[in-house]
Amino acid sequence: MSPYDFDLFVIGGGSGGVRAGRISGGYGARVGVAEEYRYGGTCVIRGCVPKKLLVYGSEYAHAFEEAAGFGWTLGEPSFDWAKMIAAKDIEIGRLEKIYRGLFENAGAKTFDGRATLKDAHTVLIGDKTVTADKILIASGGHPVKPAIPGAELMLTSNEVFHLKDQPKRIAILGGGYIALEFAGIFNGFGSKVTVLYRGEQILRGFDDDIRNHLAGELVKTGIDLKLKTDVTKIEKQGAALLLHLTDGSTLEVDAVMAATGRKPNTDGLGLEAIGVKTDAAGAVVVDAYSRTSVENIYAVGDVTNRINLTPVAIREGHCFADTVFGNKPRSPDHADVPAAVFSQPPVGTVGLSEADARKQYGEVDIYRTSFKPLRATVSGGQERVMMKLVVDARTDRVVGAHMVGAEAGEILQGIAIAIKAGAKKADFDATVGIHPTAAEEFVTMREKVKP
Ligand code: NDP
Repeated sequence: MSPYDFDLFVIGGGSGGVRAGRISGGYGARVGVAEEYRYGGTCVIRGCVPKKLLVYGSEYAHAFEEAAGFGWTLGEPSFDWAKMIAAKDIEIGRLEKIYRGLFENAGAKTFDGRATLKDAHTVLIGDKTVTADKILIASGGHPVKPAIPGAELMLTSNEVFHLKDQPKRIAILGGGYIALEFAGIFNGFGSKVTVLYRGEQILRGFDDDIRNHLAGELVKTGIDLKLKTDVTKIEKQGAALLLHLTDGSTLEVDAVMAATGRKPNTDGLGLEAIGVKTDAAGAVVVDAYSRTSVENIYAVGDVTNRINLTPVAIREGHCFADTVFGNKPRSPDHADVPAAVFSQPPVGTVGLSEADARKQYGEVDIYRTSFKPLRATVSGGQERVMMKLVVDARTDRVVGAHMVGAEAGEILQGIAIAIKAGAKKADFDATVGIHPTAAEEFVTMREKVKP
């Protein structure tokens, strides 16, 4: 019998921690978990899930516009922010209970409070002290704001889900996932949206064709996209906010949101004192099996800042449990992880961008198509879809697939299986399309883009 209260203590009840705790419990481990906020973590409580609900809600705006082309006559649509938020809150409350239940059904004991490490086997939660053989840090991350005067006036993704009123005019700072997703949400709900991005083009790190195409599409939907523009100062002006921009101009808005990246939650956990190494970004340093520099302490998810996506955290948590309690050592595979940006239109991507593939493979073949989707012919919509395949010319293997257009996330999930399985361009060519879909273009692109 172990001398500790628990075989495993998990710090953080988010996606990675829940999976690790649940699977470890299934292997017979006695599990404890501490969560200081709400079970479910960022993704369920104030990230992916509520965001996607708001995306669904805001997309109706496009559907209403398109309907007329198909013969519908609609009254003037009106939108009630408070109703949307309340409906979202009910669903999130339901999911939170399920997440807590997942732990408890696995026989785990839940603690509501902030945990800190006293030593390598001792965890403090408020006035409680517990001991554990293994400890898993799954404390996630938090949004960061730029250090400018008036930064306290900025919302982040933490607050935006709970706004009482919908801002009529909102500025969103950043050109990454969160900025572009919320730009689409507020734009769809009828706010005047300005995206301010300091760089040359949004979505740094994504394929350049995708970045350029998406930027054009966002502008078509009415978003004001200001590139090479940053905010230097924010001032309150009555109920409004005045933003001072790097081009010398000012912008008056009702709300400003910082979507300028996230940082791992490692401050104040007591890591340094017990020898758990962190890197310059504050992330816990782990090996391929998610083990930290302290032998019995592991970490998974955003706190390790590997690939900050929920399904990756879940995979890391599952591998940890299999390795440590299941006697089946396995390390998470971080290659060819697909992702979607739920902008409007969305982006789906897997594998390498053209630029990265050229660096890695030298010679690459590019297949690219851009077209007006069938729906837009009758709806009168101006959108265009873009798809792109990046192929290693030497082996014919498809090493990257990218898309901007409706359902890009849904479509790329399937393409990701092919890429993970090592499919060649010839395999794509041998696959019959499903007609009429946009996705069929992925198997009908025949002409290489001329270098
Ligand atoms: P990202 O890293 O995606 O984007 C941050 C953006 O803010 C970049 O455009 C960056 O510019 C800019 N930025 C950073 N610091 C500053 C600054 N000081 N002043 C001005 N601009 C700045 O972070 P997000 O916050 O959008 O999202 C965090 C992470 O969460 C994502 O990277 C992703 O891993 C995950 N996520 C995933 C989602 C999904 O799967 N759909 C949805 C939401 C989040 P630059 O490029 O120049 O550095």
